[in-house]
Amino acid sequence: MPKQVNCQKEDSVTQNDMNESFEEEVRAFLSDEEQLHLFDDLTKVNPVTTTTVLKCLQARYTVNLFYTNAGCSLVALNPFQPISCLYSPELMREYHVAVRPQDLKPHIFAVAEQTYRNVQSQINPINQSIIVSGESGAGKTWTSRCLMKFYASVAASATSPKGNEAVERIEKRVLDSNPIMEAFGNACTLRNNNSSRFGKYIQLHLDRFHHLSSASIQTFLLEKTRVAYQAPNERNFHIFYQITKGATAEERLAWNLPEGAHYRWLPNSERNLEEDCFEVTRDAMFHLGIDHSTQNNIFKVLSGLLHLGNIQFSNPVDESQPCELEDKAKDFVKTAGDLLKIPVEELLQSLRIRTITAGKQQQVVKKPCSRTECDTRRDCLAKVIYAKLFDWLVLVINESIYADTSLWTSFIGLLDVYGFEAFPENNLEQLCINYANEKLQQHFVAHYLKAQQEEYASEGLQWSFINYQDNQSCLDLIEGNPLSIFSLLNEECRLNRSSNPDLFQTRIEKALSDNQCLSRDKFSKKPNFIISHYAGKVCYQLAAMVEKNKDPIPPELVHVLQNSKDTLLQKLFPIAETNQNNTKTQNRAAVVTVVSKFKSSLENLMQILNSTEPHYIRCIKPNADCQAMTFRKEEVLSQLQACGIVEAITISAAGFPIRISFQSFTDRYEILRKSRRSSKNNACDKSNYHTAKKKGETAAVDDNKASHSVIAEILQNVVTGQSAAE
Ligand code: ADP
Ligand code: MG
Repeated sequence: MPKQVNCQKEDSVTQNDMNESFEEEVRAFLSDEEQLHLFDDLTKVNPVTTTTVLKCLQARYTVNLFYTNAGCSLVALNPFQPISCLYSPELMREYHVAVRPQDLKPHIFAVAEQTYRNVQSQINPINQSIIVSGESGAGKTWTSRCLMKFYASVAASATSPKGNEAVERIEKRVLDSNPIMEAFGNACTLRNNNSSRFGKYIQLHLDRFHHLSSASIQTFLLEKTRVAYQAPNERNFHIFYQITKGATAEERLAWNLPEGAHYRWLPNSERNLEEDCFEVTRDAMFHLGIDHSTQNNIFKVLSGLLHLGNIQFSNPVDESQPCELEDKAKDFVKTAGDLLKIPVEELLQSLRIRTITAGKQQQVVKKPCSRTECDTRRDCLAKVIYAKLFDWLVLVINESIYADTSLWTSFIGLLDVYGFEAFPENNLEQLCINYANEKLQQHFVAHYLKAQQEEYASEGLQWSFINYQDNQSCLDLIEGNPLSIFSLLNEECRLNRSSNPDLFQTRIEKALSDNQCLSRDKFSKKPNFIISHYAGKVCYQLAAMVEKNKDPIPPELVHVLQNSKDTLLQKLFPIAETNQNNTKTQNRAAVVTVVSKFKSSLENLMQILNSTEPHYIRCIKPNADCQAMTFRKEEVLSQLQACGIVEAITISAAGFPIRISFQSFTDRYEILRKSRRSSKNNACDKSNYHTAKKKGETAAVDDNKASHSVIAEILQNVVTGQSAAE
């Protein structure tokens, strides 16, 4: 009887197949309420439906069981409160020394330990990845931090670097990268007080003794707009609050940050967060080799940005003149110029005057910018400085933690990226984030759902294929060749078309109408398009999307930055490199757009992930208000649906959960077969048997018959009670 699995979502089950007996089964399962929390693996839930899975998770949450296995993934519910001993060094040790860590309670340490063992496997060592996913505030960064602590403890390096006691040990430096990255890359948002505004993939490199010997960090898509714009009730990056709150009197003077001063780009600073602690960031920076004078330089530049944010322009009386500045604004320009070491006049000029090269003679014409243009330039200046600073910090951190490849032999990668996003208004940022999630979902589908089914087929096991939700057409719509939303966006930038969202909407619809994942919100007056993602439909606004993709930096701004006397800015904007970029930008065919950069960094990541064995941790936020011990079913349900976990559980549950390679099976139980053969002188096809045995797990279909007959023979012996002892 072939195993069958029905992988339809529950709602469609309700419409089509749910008959009374199925309902009865669900009711019967749920009736034993007191037992529900005992299901530590959701593949044991029977029947598997969103309701039964949800009820089990809820029952476990109520009794402080936050981790549950789900076949190949681990579901992690955010407790939103410190749970004593849940991450203690003793518990790490317990998982580390366990004979079978997977037999202990489900935990991220079980995943971590299993991963660590896989990488050490004598027969088949393979690099590992742990992919931590979930929506904002679900606990991804917390989980990644705990995993890093686990490895820093169980895989601690043998000695301090090159015997030099003055340099911090590698695990300390790796852990210290967290507070720095979080200070500069995290912010308080409506969903999470410590929300990561960038994606991160960290590789922990192990030497041949399986000790941590090096690490590297790759980041994705920092939300740099936050420097100059914070949505209502949100904040700027933590570091700005840290410097304004934590600077000493002397530093306040040097950085021009008088106590109580008001900065437009520093909203909600009265809110005191744990993350506002300057000391922690400074210490970490120091441990990673960023000395006090460089730190000083960084904080001075950041303070310059705060003053930049206070510059406000007003319309000139005469339009042929540049925008005007109030007296107060003049002071801010002066301070910003001083802190960034840019002559005030040059700074003002770059913000207010546009240089246009026109005509056959390439005449240079100077034109005053409108007020809006001046604002855009000011914001752009801050964003470009901050983004470069962030990238430079990542580089410095990498220099401090990375060791030559000759010093390590394998790695464990931890991926912490933003989850699927669907806001009332979505634009290019959400498109990129959701595209990344589609890619990861495809990776998940490919590795588990597809691989599992194909494995059954290749082993010749009877199995009825199910229709798993393939998201290829959605990916084609976003990134495909030759025509996709990305290619059309890039085309607009390449041709430097004056942005007209209505025209662009028509172009998209004309070019991509065949793709069923594309639609439009016809009731909206604003130009838009809707993508049916695996996790739901999202409506994207077209206004400003092309401009965002271009992300232009006016050459005048690059010029002032290159000519700054500040040593840090000189490092961030070296003359040679930026000039090269400028010539590139002039060459229209080579415009590097936001989506093309993002796509190539994601492709690079996917290539690495594909070369590793993946493990999934699905973080779930039990309620949007970040309240402890509050489990809202509807909210959890939508997240379970968004990550396709129910389908995955269904397949794992209906599949064959215990797998032993043919080789190990025969090695262990061959004796049973022999006894029977000798006693009954059973003639078995020896040659077939040996071929199958040699090929082990990957036995080809022809050999499967031979392997199956050997297995059947052994099992038959077990059933009939024969043993070697007889
Ligand atoms: P994400 O990175 O997914 O946006 P975080 O990891 O920043 O979310 O978690 C959000 C907040 O939830 C954390 O600041 C912390 O307060 C809380 N939190 C997350 N995981 C745990 C946990 N395992 N135990 C206790 N609190 C947690
Ligand atoms: Mg995070």
